[in-house]
Amino acid sequence: MNLNTPIRKAIGHRAIELVLGDITQQHVDAIINAANCRLAGGGGVDGAIHRAGGPSIMAETRRLYPDGCPTGSAVITSAGNLAAMYIVHAVGPVWNGGQRGEETLLASAYESSLRLADEHDCQSVAMPALSTGAYRYPLEDAARVAIATSAAFLSQLDASRPLVLVRFVLFSPDALAAFQQALA
Ligand code: ADP
Repeated sequence: MNLNTPIRKAIGHRAIELVLGDITQQHVDAIINAANCRLAGGGGVDGAIHRAGGPSIMAETRRLYPDGCPTGSAVITSAGNLAAMYIVHAVGPVWNGGQRGEETLLASAYESSLRLADEHDCQSVAMPALSTGAYRYPLEDAARVAIATSAAFLSQLDASRPLVLVRFVLFSPDALAAFQQALA
């Protein structure tokens, strides 16, 4: 398998794409961030986005959302120096064995993110594998939820809406393989 070739699945005239890479380098309308519920900044993909995007993203986040963002939902800011219009800060669940509503919360974090991107007339979004880093959600399970939620969202969108591309940007070959299996 050539890991540099995007894997793509059409859903009507829209598509889900899988690529291996760094989400901060994506040229899309909205980049989804894996934030924490205090929107306090952290490591992983959040650290990378704030480093690459510059301090204006955190300044705006603090000003607009001083109370943070509940797990399973998302908020939106501009994207600082990144080649995107928006950052959607999504809060996925911490994995606690699977009996604490993790699946519902993860699906809700993806759905809230896509809804916000759609409400802001985005044509394309890049998403990371929410909750699969510091939050320890098992990769295969997380991939299934991510793909199923995104496919369902794209399927029910009104034909007139501009969102045509959901690109998952995976940071390791293992993550790419898990998403590829979920997409198949
Ligand atoms: P969470 O706390 O939601 O688990 P993390 O940022 O720790 O968030 O990890 C989420 C996923 O993002 C992990 O699979 C991690 O490998 C991946 N990741 C980390 N940095 C990047 C990046 N620059 N681009 C894309 N994915 C990334």
